[in-house]
Amino acid sequence: MALTEELAALLGPKGWLTEGLEAWQTDWLKMQSHAPLGVARPENTEQVAEVMRLAHAAGVPVTPQGGNTSLCAGAVPGVPGHIILSLSRMNRIGSVDPLAFTVTVEAGAVLAAVHEAVAARDLIFPMHLGAEGSAQIGGLIATNAGGSHALRYGMMQDLVLGLEVVLPDGGVWNGLRPLIKDNAGYQLRRLFCGSEGTLGVVTRAALRLFPAPVSRATALLAVADFETLVRLGAQLRQELGEFMSALEFFSGTGLELALRNVPGLEYPLDTRGGAYVLVELSTAARCVDLGAMLEIALGEAFEAGLIQDGAVAANDAQRAAMWRLREEMPEGQRLEGAQLKHDIAVPVAELGEFIKRMAPQLDAILPGVRINPFGHLGDGNIHYNLSPPEGAAGFGEAKAALSQLIYKEAEAVGGSFAAEHGLGRSKVFFADQLRSPEERNLMRCLKQAADPQGLLNPGVLTGPRNPQE
Ligand SMILES: Cc1cc2nc3c(=O)[nH]c(=O)nc-3n(C[C@H](O)[C@H](O)[C@H](O)COP(=O)(O)OP(=O)(O)OC[C@H]3O[C@@H](n4cnc5c(N)ncnc54)[C@H](O)[C@@H]3O)c2cc1C
Repeated sequence: MALTEELAALLGPKGWLTEGLEAWQTDWLKMQSHAPLGVARPENTEQVAEVMRLAHAAGVPVTPQGGNTSLCAGAVPGVPGHIILSLSRMNRIGSVDPLAFTVTVEAGAVLAAVHEAVAARDLIFPMHLGAEGSAQIGGLIATNAGGSHALRYGMMQDLVLGLEVVLPDGGVWNGLRPLIKDNAGYQLRRLFCGSEGTLGVVTRAALRLFPAPVSRATALLAVADFETLVRLGAQLRQELGEFMSALEFFSGTGLELALRNVPGLEYPLDTRGGAYVLVELSTAARCVDLGAMLEIALGEAFEAGLIQDGAVAANDAQRAAMWRLREEMPEGQRLEGAQLKHDIAVPVAELGEFIKRMAPQLDAILPGVRINPFGHLGDGNIHYNLSPPEGAAGFGEAKAALSQLIYKEAEAVGGSFAAEHGLGRSKVFFADQLRSPEERNLMRCLKQAADPQGLLNPGVLTGPRNPQE
């Protein structure tokens, strides 16, 4: 029997699709991929294992796909004739363990659904990002997602306790132990975090939960420039310690783009700054006065001349309006027209100097280019996104030079050209240019060991060395 017939027999009409595949073939950035053989939508781990076994025997490549929100072309096929393996029907959320603070979920569970399910037990799963209505647990694990609360709770690798993974030949590794401490050899669960669907297909995960906060305190602060921003961030972290749950930032340029293009935004301050900080505290303890704590810390920062203007949210509506300003940074820029996105990280202490130093260098490549850095001040992750000069339709020939410079300089200060979105296919070329041969070869050795035929998500993360090859 041909592979497609075997898959149709195994998965049935809802589980094996060969028509109307546009939604699976096109990702969030509208990157079109090659036509697949079909889309497999298994219902359980046994079916995933059988799909992998059949594909392996037939020598057909497989692209695992979650919510398809990858920002670097990782979840859509790079060559024709793939099977897209969608986890979207495996979205069951198991019962919460309120004694161990864990929940076991299937890989296709959407992040927002996990939030909702555990909220009913006064618990949180503290991963938050703009795509949480679509991104799935398996995709978040495979990209080792970060988001806006990584400063306090870590990235996905810190939130995953155990995993079940189907291997490229159809074998199943059951590592679903919901343990913080498990040092029986290599940390396999961590190896799959950030593996971008190249080593195995995540089918289930045991996740860490935390008590839901009973109070929050949030402020939006305007500062003169990015160097002051870094000093303010450090002072607030020192003062507010473990109560700080988010420390986000955006620029004056980003604010202007968002206010101009996104309807319904409210700017709560009287004056404009060169940069902005959104700070939030939260606690599950009932006898802690976060409002007083924040007021004292802000008072000291005002006195030290670090803050130009600021507002503390008086209620949930004001808090949501402040968060919306930060969260609409990407949308404000998208609605402005062409854009060039870069997800980089720099050591926090370098962030202000980096942003200041880069501006004239980028302007020399494309005069008038608009720079919209925003992101996560607590961990140095900058979404260093560019818009073309006012009135220009695109970046023309300057595009490659702008990206090259940003990635090269981020690496030169001890940062990363790939902070929280991964490499996908679009950053493999830069990885080979910017990281040592030892680092890249070690990754290729791991890939070769786990997937000797190279059938799982080929082209992603490890190569080919040049995407044009
Ligand atoms: C608006 C927006 C905001 C975002 N904000 C953030 C942010 O703040 N922080 C952040 O870290 N990221 C962010 N991202 C990108 C982020 O990487 C994705 O949102 C998310 O982690 C991917 O989940 P997904 O289910 O959509 O995976 P997909 O896009 O479907 O897949 C991503 C990768 O994982 C692999 N994969 C998917 N499922 C599995 C599985 N079950 N097993 C093995 N491999 C699998 C795919 O092959 C692919 O390589 C954002 C994206 C968007 C569109």
